[in-house]
Amino acid sequence: MRELIAGNWKMNMTRKEIDSFFEEFLRMVPYLPNEREVAIIPPFVYIPYVSEKLKGTTINYGAQNLFYEEKGAFTGEVSAEMLKDLGCTYVIIGHSERRKYFCETDETVNRKIKAALGKGLTPIVCVGETLEERESGKTFEIIEGQIRKGLDGVELSEPERLVIAYEPVWAIGTGKTATPQQAEEVHAFIRKLLKEKFGEISKDIRILYGGSVKPENAAGLMEMENINGALVGGASLDPVSFYRIIRYDSGG
Ligand code: PEP
Repeated sequence: MRELIAGNWKMNMTRKEIDSFFEEFLRMVPYLPNEREVAIIPPFVYIPYVSEKLKGTTINYGAQNLFYEEKGAFTGEVSAEMLKDLGCTYVIIGHSERRKYFCETDETVNRKIKAALGKGLTPIVCVGETLEERESGKTFEIIEGQIRKGLDGVELSEPERLVIAYEPVWAIGTGKTATPQQAEEVHAFIRKLLKEKFGEISKDIRILYGGSVKPENAAGLMEMENINGALVGGASLDPVSFYRIIRYDSGG
């Protein structure tokens, strides 16, 4: 299975900052390992700008959200078809920041996943528990609910068309990372749920880890059996850190 390292830029970067990111990053691109897939997920407005920068490379790009309706009077929203039209491969769905600040629920996540798949986009579906939920022993219950409701009625013929990201909320942007063992425990549980739902192909569905991934901790996480890549927030804004995470096994 080809590991995926995706950089979620969140609400960061201007054109000037994107210019300086790529000035440095593109110099390192020839040294990226072929067996690893890389994607950059900028804010909506910069998708065309980033796609221009990536021309001639094998790096993919995507969006941080979409709206599930096809078109119409939904001011401020962006559809799956629009993202496809811009050449996006991926779309993040159900990021914990969207669940927390923008009323995203398992039901809206479910509709968005279906809209993405329906237009040929690959959703990166985020799940994860809060600190309170972890401390009260509810991690597996929460993950199970998010996976089951999020994927309700979703059909999948090819495993590479769906990516799951386990992002413990307490580890996002906090500098606290789950230990490789803590993460693997949840990843293995997600794999089991995917197997119940999709059968044999589930062994090839990529499950990314996200939550304060850095060059220093990437290798330990990525060597776990059910961790098939990373969703990187803060560290993906710096070209050297992002590059070193992608090359986690070669000491950067
Ligand atoms: C994220 O945005 O998905 C994320 C994991 O952020 P960070 O790496 O900054 O914790």
